[in-house]
Amino acid sequence: MSESRESLFATALAQFERGADLIGLPEDLRSILSQPKNEIIVNFPVRMNDGRFRVFRGYRIQHNNLLGPYKGGIRFHPMVDLDEVKALASWMTWKSALCDIPFGGAKGGVTFDPLQLDHDELERVVRRFTHSLGANIGPDHDIPAPDLGSNAQTMVWMMDTYANSTGAAERQNVKRVVTGKTLETGGSPGRDKATGQGLIFCLQHWADEVGFDLTGASAIVQGWGNVGSAVGRLLQVHGTTIRAVADAGGAVADPGGIDAFALTEWVMEHGTVVGYPNAEPVEPEDFWAVDSDVVVPAALENQVTAEVAAQLTGRVVVEAANGPTTLEAEEVLAERGIDVLPDILVNAGGVVVSYFEWLQNRSAQRWNLEEVDVQLRDVMVRACDAVVSMREELAITSRRDAAYALALRRLETVYQQRGIFP
Ligand code: NAD
Repeated sequence: MSESRESLFATALAQFERGADLIGLPEDLRSILSQPKNEIIVNFPVRMNDGRFRVFRGYRIQHNNLLGPYKGGIRFHPMVDLDEVKALASWMTWKSALCDIPFGGAKGGVTFDPLQLDHDELERVVRRFTHSLGANIGPDHDIPAPDLGSNAQTMVWMMDTYANSTGAAERQNVKRVVTGKTLETGGSPGRDKATGQGLIFCLQHWADEVGFDLTGASAIVQGWGNVGSAVGRLLQVHGTTIRAVADAGGAVADPGGIDAFALTEWVMEHGTVVGYPNAEPVEPEDFWAVDSDVVVPAALENQVTAEVAAQLTGRVVVEAANGPTTLEAEEVLAERGIDVLPDILVNAGGVVVSYFEWLQNRSAQRWNLEEVDVQLRDVMVRACDAVVSMREELAITSRRDAAYALALRRLETVYQQRGIFP
């Protein structure tokens, strides 16, 4: 872990312990689930355009596969380290259990900035990383997907590399070694917006529960990438005004509303929200204080600190990103009566539609977008209902604690029935 950063895995463990305490999870299962099963680190050389070789460090952390194959995204970012990937991998285990899909949890990453490499260099990094992982990934063993800094093209290169390292007779059978591919190469309709769409189903569920109207409400969104921009566009369709947006480059605001579709086009062309002509620039430190009902962190972890939590004007923080809220911030939010819709619930739409993609590849079928959305809604609403019931059963307010309790209880049940080998 970098010294300047709070340990993300420590945060993940603290959240896990709270859930485990609530259901009285037995000690042996606590020890098993509080560490990943496998921690794979690969150092691999890649030829850069100037002819020199650069050695990259990549990770694949396989947290748990009790419920199904390991599953989780691949992150490309200069801050990727073992601590971060362990935390992200554990969250995948809880997400799959919470949504009742037959996957385990994993996460991977490579420590570099993809924006600093050109297309050809990036392709070589992805292919060489995939080759280095070798048999540690596989269509029924461990299935990567996109995350921060990676995308559908990354997944296509991974799938192609894996397929070409497989015997000819098996080659057509391994498409599902990754999900989040382009439609043309076996991706699922709706996978690109799945995380955002799943989040909107959960937010709507919360709104119905507490009597809040998304139409006419306002929101701020941090991160305008795959997840943040999809959330922004879907919120706008629901009649919610986007008042401010921040990304790695800076932030922009307009009290009258930022057009999410026009902003998406701008970012596709310019790579950042900075300079978007139909809004005013704001200092990133002033972004969180922009008046809004719904706060959507959709970038990195540890962004909603205690200091930020004290400034928020919203009624609800919806965790599109993984681990955006620090433990201290969570206390401040609870004291201020601001609801937190936890990451392991609200951003699980990505893994759910990844599961649908995996099923489609396995049976050589293609679902249409309506089918995907209907099935996704069904899974998300069931998970939200179950979290509400768990809060009532345990007589607690925290939705995060209830979500953990639910996921852990499901895992505990399966461990009890299967036993621990040998
Ligand atoms: P992305 O790479 O498409 O976009 C990331 C966005 O965050 C960009 O707009 C970037 O500029 C911004 N950002 C980066 N550093 C920042 C900083 N210091 N301050 C402000 N903004 C910053 O990534 P994504 O796939 O949209 O993932 C975003 C978050 O959602 C991550 O936490 C990821 O783990 C989580 N998530 C993604 C998926 C998925 O399907 N892609 C699923 C579940 C959760």
